[in-house]
Amino acid sequence: HKYVYDFAEGNKGLKDLLGGKGANLAEMTNLGLPVPPGFTITTEACKAYLTTGREPEGLAAQIEAHLESLEREMGRRLGDPDDPLLVSVRSGAKFSMPGMMETVLNVGLNDRSVIGLSAQAGGNDRFAWDSYRRLIQMFGKTVCEVPGEEFEHALDEAKHAKGTSNDLDLDADDLRGLVDAYKKIFAKHTGREFPQEPREQLDLAIRAVFESWNAERAVLYRRQERIPADLGTAVNVVTMVFGNLGPDSGTGVAFTRDPGSGAQGIYGDYLANAQGEDVVAGIRNTVPLQELEQLDKASYDQLLGIMARLEEHYKDLCDIEFTIERGKLWMLQTRVGKRTAAAAFVIAGQLVDEGLIDLDEALHRVNGAQLAQLMFPRFQLDHEFEAVAKGIGASPGAASGKVVFTSARAVELAAEGEAVILVRRETNPDDLNGMIAAQGILTSRGGKTSHAAVVARGMGKTCVSGADELEVNVPAKKFTVGGHVVNEGDVVSIDGTTGKVYLGEVPVMPSEVVQYFEGELDPETIDDALVRAVHRIMTHADAARRLRVRTNADTGADAARARRFGAEGIGLCRTEHMFLGDRRELVERLILASGEREREDALAALLPLQRADFIEIFREMDGLPVTVRLIDPPLHEFLPPLEQLAVNVAVAQERGEDVAKEEALLAAVRRMHEENPMLGLRGVRLGLVIPGLFAMQVRAITEAAVAVVRDGGTACPEIMVPLVGAVQELETVRAEAERIIAEVVGDSGVEVLIGTMIEVPRAALTAGQIAEAAEFFSFGTNDLTQMGWGFSRDDVEGAFFWRYLELGIFGISPFESIDTDGVGRLIRIAAEEGRAARPGLKLGVCGEHGGDPDSVHFFHSVGLDYVSCSPFRVPVARLEAGRAAI
Ligand code: ADP
Ligand code: MG
Ligand code: MG
Repeated sequence: HKYVYDFAEGNKGLKDLLGGKGANLAEMTNLGLPVPPGFTITTEACKAYLTTGREPEGLAAQIEAHLESLEREMGRRLGDPDDPLLVSVRSGAKFSMPGMMETVLNVGLNDRSVIGLSAQAGGNDRFAWDSYRRLIQMFGKTVCEVPGEEFEHALDEAKHAKGTSNDLDLDADDLRGLVDAYKKIFAKHTGREFPQEPREQLDLAIRAVFESWNAERAVLYRRQERIPADLGTAVNVVTMVFGNLGPDSGTGVAFTRDPGSGAQGIYGDYLANAQGEDVVAGIRNTVPLQELEQLDKASYDQLLGIMARLEEHYKDLCDIEFTIERGKLWMLQTRVGKRTAAAAFVIAGQLVDEGLIDLDEALHRVNGAQLAQLMFPRFQLDHEFEAVAKGIGASPGAASGKVVFTSARAVELAAEGEAVILVRRETNPDDLNGMIAAQGILTSRGGKTSHAAVVARGMGKTCVSGADELEVNVPAKKFTVGGHVVNEGDVVSIDGTTGKVYLGEVPVMPSEVVQYFEGELDPETIDDALVRAVHRIMTHADAARRLRVRTNADTGADAARARRFGAEGIGLCRTEHMFLGDRRELVERLILASGEREREDALAALLPLQRADFIEIFREMDGLPVTVRLIDPPLHEFLPPLEQLAVNVAVAQERGEDVAKEEALLAAVRRMHEENPMLGLRGVRLGLVIPGLFAMQVRAITEAAVAVVRDGGTACPEIMVPLVGAVQELETVRAEAERIIAEVVGDSGVEVLIGTMIEVPRAALTAGQIAEAAEFFSFGTNDLTQMGWGFSRDDVEGAFFWRYLELGIFGISPFESIDTDGVGRLIRIAAEEGRAARPGLKLGVCGEHGGDPDSVHFFHSVGLDYVSCSPFRVPVARLEAGRAAI
């Protein structure tokens, strides 16, 4: 079995096997770019190691063989005392997990080869000892779990002794002393000396990288990003090149376009005389990549050429890591880069313009989650709010919240329902929990490529990084900026687009993308790359999709907004809100009615109110279908809560007031009390039990349609009966409804469809029978999920879903994204059997899932006609329906 691939043997298609880093190093090698030679140990080797706890059979020999050939190629042996070959041992999974797993640099250095390395570098002792102390530090922390702070503390002490804060001021002697200190730390924590044998260093480092796949923070990151837990990581062994050889060396990171806005240009950070992580760790302040032109024009030009080449090759934004060793450029990593939602749209549009991709591909490159992000509101700023600091807009959005300084505190306050902003000097992978819990992240150090920036962008979380006017004091739980002191619990607002930081809570306004959907910005004339790109891609999605998109709307205003957002009808108009507010009293009358007469009076009073509501909605939707659901919730929801009512009655009695009416109400509430109301008297059951209730609603709907038509408009009502489980229920309601419709419609030409929700599992399983009495089905996926799993939607999420997610019983709440295997199967069965019984049966979805990207793809695949979702989700559903169709 082949476990080890030379860089020349791989390519970018082999990410499953070689991980993203390895596959792309191979790709660059084969493009003829300057990549230090090396090889990749496959994810299969890692998986085998993780399941058995041992390196798989044959791995050691293959590593030996590849190492030997690397040594031959380089003309050096690993850790040779006179002229050592040094390597890095780098993790690299299929999906990028920035900073989550481990890498060890300078493997092969020991007490003897450090002398050889210095000689090889022309007697550069400083460089050699700097490299050695880095090895002990990284190896100790990563491979042997020595607490990293101890090394950092020793480094700080060495700098302090020297009276400096800059690591470059430490000379060879200082660094040699530091190596001694590090070795003592290593020995103290591990009970052994730092391993001097190069091959042992290599093997232990490889093992540590395997094991880092299951490090706590990596597990957490995967869960957050929905990366499968069983992929394993590859290990890349790469010949070291040195950016810490002196001022003519350095290391940097770059993007081929701005990952924040998508704008073309040169984006990156460079740090002279530095190695590896120094750039992203915020050890010293980096310089913008443009300045490399002054420092080393030849390398700069070569780098720009390579970046252009990579973009053309990958046909996408790439990010890269590079190192310059004494004027020679080396490429250490590339990948298709992460980007903000705005950049995703803008870049997709640009690449179409450049002829690199077509519109179908552009549609693939964006997604509904990104579009949803672009619809977030942004700050509404006036003179009252002056920014107190400006950092880098690292991940867009507008976030306000209470300041916290630790991950733990962020988690704590967020659990209490507070919005928090996590403020740190810089974040590291241990802050992940806090970053997830926070509304936004604010750091005083680090650029667009810092840990905070990269991780926040990935999560779609607002982030301002490198706001260096902030003096962050974590132990004292405060920061100061421009004479202000901000303590834990004070509110700040951060703008992840502009990088500005405000004290207090800044009010928000709609984003430009929402303004575009509202029709307030003309995409043809506006000079805004984002709006134009969104318009273009949405237009393509609309042309491509087969699924129609409707909205859930109960009022004329919602209906109007949804239409502007592209809704093609209403898939769910709930009627229960029409019984609230002032109308509550009428409902009370209905419930308390002691005879047919009183009940009819109450219903007659409700009728014109309902009719007026429907007229407004039909007008707004002018000719588009409107599905009206007959009343669904248990009636006691319209009455005051039992306890409150009981207290009121008692108090009134005490005062000697006349409480006859309240007592009657209380008695009714007691009578209607249900232990399990969501499985009780609701939906169609109400219609069958309370005479005249459904009839009144059917009459109101039909009369409204007729009124609109007589006024010259068009109305397409679809009456939907909720909670049906048996065809007999629907037949009973239908018979009465048909009679009323026939009577009201007269010669108006209005057509009214009658259909049902499929939300009780039995309905899905008897869909063939139910379709005989239904002209359409609308899947109520909220209830279908609730009843399919037996989970009370209102209770379970907080109670135990965390545990289910932890155990991987599901990867995401089934109320958020449709459970395709179980609930989805019910939908599939109902769709097939319903259509078999009644060809042309209309099928739609009206649960929250109608606006969830993954669910939309599922509904497309089972052949539904439409999805329906809240107005703000309509553009997301349009986009995803388009993506599902291409
Ligand atoms: P990550 O996935 O966290 O970025 P990497 O494996 O890319 O980890 O390595 C960490 C840092 O070390 C990066 O800055 C990388 O460029 C640098 N590095 C890795 N291998 C080498 C090498 N062979 N020579 C010089 N620098 C290296
Ligand atoms: Mg890297
Ligand atoms: Mg329901």
